[in-house]
Amino acid sequence: MPVRSVGSPHAPRQAQVSRLPDNARVRAALDWFTPHISWVNDQQVRITEIPAPPFQEAQRAAAVKELLAEAGLTAQIDKTGNVIGELRGVNEREIVVITAHLDTVFPPGTDVKVHRDGSRMAAPGISDNGTGLAALLALARAAHFAHLKPQRTILFVGDVGEEGEGNLRGMRAIVDTYRAKLKAVVVLDGSGTDYVTTKALASRRLEALITGPGGHSWSDFGMPNPINALVRGSVRFINTKVPASPRTTFNIGQIEGGTSVNSVPHEARLKVDIRSESEDELTRLESALRECIAAGVRDEMDSARDRSKGKLEWKVELLGSRPGGELAPDSPLLAALRAADEAVGNQSRIERSSTDANIPLSLGIDAISIGAGGNGGGAHSLQEWYDSAGRETGLKRALLTILGISGVAEEKSR
Ligand SMILES: [Zn+2]
Repeated sequence: MPVRSVGSPHAPRQAQVSRLPDNARVRAALDWFTPHISWVNDQQVRITEIPAPPFQEAQRAAAVKELLAEAGLTAQIDKTGNVIGELRGVNEREIVVITAHLDTVFPPGTDVKVHRDGSRMAAPGISDNGTGLAALLALARAAHFAHLKPQRTILFVGDVGEEGEGNLRGMRAIVDTYRAKLKAVVVLDGSGTDYVTTKALASRRLEALITGPGGHSWSDFGMPNPINALVRGSVRFINTKVPASPRTTFNIGQIEGGTSVNSVPHEARLKVDIRSESEDELTRLESALRECIAAGVRDEMDSARDRSKGKLEWKVELLGSRPGGELAPDSPLLAALRAADEAVGNQSRIERSSTDANIPLSLGIDAISIGAGGNGGGAHSLQEWYDSAGRETGLKRALLTILGISGVAEEKSR
């Protein structure tokens, strides 16, 4: 991926960014957070308790839209399902996006009731991305309270399709719609303030499907069995060597097939997630999966006792692909984040990860992904938790970063 920056000559320089907290309105917005932390926590609980399985984010989107409208933004839901709240800038031809994904990994029916104990909350999705969504609302609210007028228009976005097989469709749509005006994207995902993701980890998600005639476990014994073939192919695949550098990983995350214990199944499928710091390694690993599944089918056919009862078919399909990319080290966005870190007394390390920022970064648009403060753990598990202690640091850091890149209109002296 080419490394480039779209920083315009009008982008605020670091010197201006570090003066931001001196601006009375910025100060007022920053000061809004601490006395309103319990409001922010309550919104996090409220949002988390509205289920948002992949492809079923609409109910949560409607609630976020209402809250963004309450914060004085012009809010709408686009045709992809993203919520977009606009804070109009002096310069409407340039846009900065701050976004938090609406969706969770949890299927419909998951108990999402939040259990609270002091500053600690527990529920599936509470941190990923209850924290990001609560922060998005808090930032909009603080900006409204302080009558902040940005230079560039800021869009507050709750986007769909970040998790699972969503394939970043929400972010793809946002970038598609605003590309010509889009100057930077800040992604709020989960908790913490100790990192900034500037490097997009490339990944692919694949599904292997093997089908056969199927039959009875006793009378059709010896017929080629799709599950057998899948297991044979899977064992070959997990023995594939991957390099430690560039770091490359694979995960068989789902395997399914068959209808009952006494039937020869008519189909078997598995889903694999592969990730790498190198697109070449990804391509190599994808080919390896195809070869292993083909070999598994071949092995099963070779050992089938009765090939007259039909043969196996197989295919491997790409479910999704996240392109890679990197933010230029001298980008105005990274300068804004560094200045924000300095202003709130925070230190953060650069990370490579697979996030919504992959899409803008792969197109050469400046983007980062950061945590929205506090602490959390157990993401993607039923034991997920979040502790809001100290979350104001994350809120201030995010606000200063976004204002650092949008700029703030000069105050008229009164
Ligand atoms: Zn997330």
